[in-house]
Amino acid sequence: MPKADRGTALAHQAEPGTPAERAEASWQYAPAPESRDVVSIKPEYGLFIAGEFRPAANGRTFGTINPATEEPLAQVAEAGQQDVDAAVAAAREAYEQVWRPMPGSERAKYLYRIARQLQERAREFAVLESLDNGKPIRETRDVDIPLTAAHFFYYAGWADKLEYAGFGPDPRPLGVAGQVIPWNFPLLMAAWKLAPALAAGNTCVLKPAETTPLTALLLAEVCQQAGLPPGVVNIITGAGDTGAALVSHPGVNKIAFTGSTEVGKEIARAVAGTGKKLTLELGGKAANIVFDDAPIEQAVEGIVNGIFFNQGHVCCAGSRLLVQESVADTVIERLHRRLTTLRLGDPLDKNTDIGAINSSQQLAKIGELARAGEAEGAHRWSPPCQLPDKGFWFPPTVFTGVSQSHRIAREEIFGPVLSVLTFRTPDEAVTKANNTPYGLSAGIWTDKGSRILWLTRQLRAGVVWANTYNRFDPASPFGGYQESGYGREGGRHGLAAYLDA
Ligand code: NDP
Repeated sequence: MPKADRGTALAHQAEPGTPAERAEASWQYAPAPESRDVVSIKPEYGLFIAGEFRPAANGRTFGTINPATEEPLAQVAEAGQQDVDAAVAAAREAYEQVWRPMPGSERAKYLYRIARQLQERAREFAVLESLDNGKPIRETRDVDIPLTAAHFFYYAGWADKLEYAGFGPDPRPLGVAGQVIPWNFPLLMAAWKLAPALAAGNTCVLKPAETTPLTALLLAEVCQQAGLPPGVVNIITGAGDTGAALVSHPGVNKIAFTGSTEVGKEIARAVAGTGKKLTLELGGKAANIVFDDAPIEQAVEGIVNGIFFNQGHVCCAGSRLLVQESVADTVIERLHRRLTTLRLGDPLDKNTDIGAINSSQQLAKIGELARAGEAEGAHRWSPPCQLPDKGFWFPPTVFTGVSQSHRIAREEIFGPVLSVLTFRTPDEAVTKANNTPYGLSAGIWTDKGSRILWLTRQLRAGVVWANTYNRFDPASPFGGYQESGYGREGGRHGLAAYLDA
């Protein structure tokens, strides 16, 4: 069989279902590509320090590529120690001279301006994010960019009301915030970090992930456009060494990190004893629990959204499906059927459900864990699926026959891979759900409100969704327990992380 064109539906060979279902599932969709013309990508990007773009002091750069095609997109400056020093110094000066003394009502105006610019340039941001990250345009357009603007709007509203936020009559900012973010929601994570910090009166030095620097740099242009005073936001691109230099910089008062538990632990060690305030938003291995009284079709949509949204590159992904034994066969059968209708391919195609894996390293990691699942005896299933020739791709994958000791039930895969376990009683569901070193999120699917309330008290997870999954709102706090980190982002709680309260 020839390789599928990008944007075609997953191909079907010997799939389950009646002939009518198979005929429906094999419909081909005409490509509906979003235009790339709204974005002009420069060949080279500098560091954003003190309100201007500049090359790295040592002249070093690195490339960023489109993971769906492996096409080089741009060269980006790689910040070394001297650049980190310059960014922190610019942030300090802006903090002392401009941002801290400024009334909250004035700070709010800048945040509102940034939010409005994000909305006006939403299409440009959405296309650029899909190009640099590999995620489908449907998601960048409908989730990443609107939520990013919503975060700035939300925290703009708090900037002049800090004394009413419940942190005492005169809560003070901390100073300079060093912020390190991952590649799975590049622009949204920048907003989660910058918006509350700025609203609370701090200045920022942000380091985006090496594989997804472009939307943060476009956000730097928006800061210029909004007239944000120089040095209030500084964006330094680079790899782990740049992040480590920022974290250990003595001029930084607060560190906020989102990423792997491993690096989070390193950062906690580096920050210990320095007096810097720290929030960590790390990995997860969430249980998505389906009871026998759940609305099954709705639950199947929730399972799909829980693990295949953003190719499963989601810290709170519902990567462990716990399904009550009496309905397990039905749920798996309908899940298989639903997965055969997902379309994998060109992230810029508006029909695409599953885009590219963000990097070859991440693809290798997902592959390694999936092979471990098979080797340990779990049953692997994917819809028949032809992957594009170039780029980094992994088909939606479901493992059944998974036991709690399997690596795929314990480790964060951070890819489109679901591990299915079963349970008989609510107590068993709780025990299995909590049998993880993480504690970021969980999902419950049941008809009974009382069961939802009981379970939410039993589950050791920072966020519990009931009869829905992966819902985000800037007003709602988000964060974890145990190896998922500490501190909360979003809502009033998110302000506490940036106030000396
Ligand atoms: P990392 O935790 O390594 O990266 C997150 C951010 O931290 C990036 O900006 C990274 O830089 C930076 N960084 C790396 N090392 C250091 C350091 N020593 N000090 C300070 N900053 C540092 O995640 P990866 O991208 O390597 O992904 C690895 C795994 O982590 C994934 O497979 C997934 O399981 C998990 N992960 C979890 C996320 C979550 O939200 N929970 C998000 C991303 C990954 P750079 O990338 O530029 O090198």
